[in-house]
Amino acid sequence: MSVKQNLEEIRARIKHTCSKTDRNPDEISLIAVTKYVSIERAKEAVEAGIAHLGENRNEGLAEKHEAIGNSASWHFIGTLQTRKVKDMIDKADYIHSLDRLSLAKEIDKRADDKVKCFIQVNTSGEESKHGMTPEEVLPFVKELENYPNILVVGLMTMAPNTDDEHVLRESFKRLRTLRGEVTSLHLPYAPCSELSMGMSNDFEIAVEEGATFIRIGSALVG
Ligand SMILES: *Cc1c(COP(=O)(O)O)cnc(C)c1O
Repeated sequence: MSVKQNLEEIRARIKHTCSKTDRNPDEISLIAVTKYVSIERAKEAVEAGIAHLGENRNEGLAEKHEAIGNSASWHFIGTLQTRKVKDMIDKADYIHSLDRLSLAKEIDKRADDKVKCFIQVNTSGEESKHGMTPEEVLPFVKELENYPNILVVGLMTMAPNTDDEHVLRESFKRLRTLRGEVTSLHLPYAPCSELSMGMSNDFEIAVEEGATFIRIGSALVG
């Protein structure tokens, strides 16, 4: 399938979900996750109208950024090693995987200006998932005051590997509740208005639960 066809189908599904839940589809940004596909396929996505691309490794980000440049916004969605920050900091418009102070410190040091970051939260408690526990989020956000180049635009989670709709939904709800706790702190460096959640298999539930960025790989670009 062409990216264009997949995109039409996904947009229709987003629209349908929004109409059920009284949301505006314009509030939802679609990130095409291109980590498994070629530069050509990523270009096809941009030509089809995708404005956001996501990569989970420095190498992928570097080669696609070089080929595509600023015709899309770039999202780093993978686990980020502290020593690799300096190579990617000029290319990523958003980092979705802020999960520890040592990383915040390095981003702050290497960046020339504020970097839009999502705090990654492990909402399921699955050992294999990265991210901090929900309990760690508020103390962490408060500590970020010391790192002026970090702008907390939102929270990110990966739902557990399950088809159990209830479990998926609880995970997304948890993230939304946490967002409310962060925004009620009214910190200028943590507006935290965004929720990055939902992938190919669960994005409709994520949209129902308030996602503002969904990250879709296999269902969109293959
Ligand atoms: C790979 C990946 C996605 C996309 O997954 P699909 O199931 O292919 O849609 C989304 N988010 C993260 C963090 C990923 O690593």
